[in-house]
Amino acid sequence: MLYGKRDRDEVEFLEPIFGSESEKVDLPKYKLNDEPIEPRTAFQLVQDEMLDEGNARLNLATFCQTYMEPEAVELMSRTLDKNAVDKSEYPRTAEIENRCVNMIASLWHAQENEAFMGTSTIGSSEACMLAGLAMKFSWRKRAEKLGLDTAAKKPNLVISSAYQVCWEKFCVYWDIELREIPIDEKHLSINLNTVMDYVDEYTIGIVGILGITYTGRYDDIRTLNELVEVYNAQTEYKVYIHVDAASGGFYTPFVEPDLLWDFRLENVISINASGHKYGLVYPGVGWVVWRDKHYLPKELVFEVSYLGGELPTMAINFSHSAAQLIGQYYNFVRYGFNGYQAIHERTHEIAVFLAKEIQKTDIFEIINDGSQLPLVCYKLKADAEREWTLYDLSDRLLMKGWQVPAYPLPKSMDTTVIQRIVVRGDFGMNIAADFIEDFNEAITALNNAHLVYHKQKEIKKYGFSH
Ligand SMILES: *Cc1c(COP(=O)(O)O)cnc(C)c1O
Repeated sequence: MLYGKRDRDEVEFLEPIFGSESEKVDLPKYKLNDEPIEPRTAFQLVQDEMLDEGNARLNLATFCQTYMEPEAVELMSRTLDKNAVDKSEYPRTAEIENRCVNMIASLWHAQENEAFMGTSTIGSSEACMLAGLAMKFSWRKRAEKLGLDTAAKKPNLVISSAYQVCWEKFCVYWDIELREIPIDEKHLSINLNTVMDYVDEYTIGIVGILGITYTGRYDDIRTLNELVEVYNAQTEYKVYIHVDAASGGFYTPFVEPDLLWDFRLENVISINASGHKYGLVYPGVGWVVWRDKHYLPKELVFEVSYLGGELPTMAINFSHSAAQLIGQYYNFVRYGFNGYQAIHERTHEIAVFLAKEIQKTDIFEIINDGSQLPLVCYKLKADAEREWTLYDLSDRLLMKGWQVPAYPLPKSMDTTVIQRIVVRGDFGMNIAADFIEDFNEAITALNNAHLVYHKQKEIKKYGFSH
C-alpha cells in the first residue's frame, strides 16, 4: 500500500484523488460498477463528467433561473428531504405553500367577493395541464346542462400558433383538438380579428399567453376579454380565458402594474406561472390559481388528511421535494414587492441596452426590444449583404461560452429565423457590456471569414427555446 501502515481512513484521506484506484480505471457507464468508490473521488468523477458543459449563467437561451442567493441555497439544501406532498408530517411546509398561493393570488388581483384556489406544481407544464383539465371538466358540465351531445365532437382549445409545447401535450393527453390561430407578420401574438371565429360550443376555453416563448410578445388579454364578453352575451355556450403567464406572471405585475391581464378581467378564470422563471427560483416550481373555486370542478380536488383534518390537493405529481417551495417563499419574504420590482426593472433596462447596441450594428431587425418581457429578439435584415446566417453567429458566440439560440418562428412563419437573448436577474450591466463586445467581435470575424455558404435553406433549431 502506498502509505504503509497507516489506518484505512488516513490512507483514503491522504491518497491524492488523481492517484487513486478509481481514477485509474474507466468505470462502466451504462451499468453499475461492482464496488463502491470513495465519496470524494465519486464527487470529482461526476463533476468532471460535466466539465465541458455550458455555464448556466452564460446560457442566454433559458428563462429558468441560474442564480439564487447563498441563503436560499442553504435553506433549500436543508429542506431537500421534505416531501412536499406529506402535509401531515410537514404542516409548516403546507402552510408555506398556502401563504405563497395567497401572495400570488393577491399579486394577480384575485377579487374579494370570490374564493380563489391554487396550488404549486413542478412547473408551468403541470400547471397548464391542471388549468386545461379544469376547463375541460367545467365545459362538459355546462354543455351537458344545455343539452349538447358532448361525445359528438372532440372538444377544442383555442390558442395562437405561438403556444408552448405543453399545450400540445395537454391536447394529445386529453384528446382535445388544438385550434391554432396562425401568427403572421402583422400579428405576432393572438390575432384578435379572427380569434372568435375559432370558438364554438365545443370550445373548452381560450388561452392567452403573457409572454410568447418565442418572442416575449404579450397577447392582448384585455381586448380578448372584451371580445369574450360580447361573445358570451349572445350565447348560452359561455367561453372563458386561461392566461399562460409562465414568464409574465412574476414579471408584469412588478414592471407594468397597470397592464390589465389578470383577475381584474372578468373572463380570466385561471392563470399559471413558473416560479423558476421570473419568480427567481431554481427549477422546478410552478403555480396555478383559479379566480374562484367554482371554476375548479370537484372531481379534480382530492382530500388528504392533514393534522387530523382534510386538505384539498389538486396537483398531478405526488412525491417531490419541498425545497423549491421553500425557495419561493424565501424569495417572497426576502425581496417583497419592491425587491422584485427593483430586480426586474434593472433586468428590463439591460434588455433595452442590449437591443440598442444590437440595433447599432445596422444588420438586424429587432422584433422585441425588451419592452415586453426583458428579452431581445431579432432577425437579419433582408437587405443586409453577408454570407453568414444566425446559426453561424450562434456558433461564433459559443466559442466565447455564450449560448444564444437561433430558431425559426412557429409553423405559419417558419421561414423567419430569429435569435433570442433572455435577460435574467443575474445578468448585470458588466456582463452585458462584455457580451456586446464579444457580439461585435463575432460579427467582424464572420464578415472577414471565408465561409462555405449554406446553399440550402435550412430550418433547424439551435439551443432550446423555452
Ligand atoms: C416556459 C413556458 C411554459 C412551460 O413552463 P415550465 O415551467 O418549463 O414547465 C409554458 N408556457 C409558456 C408560455 C412558457 O414560456
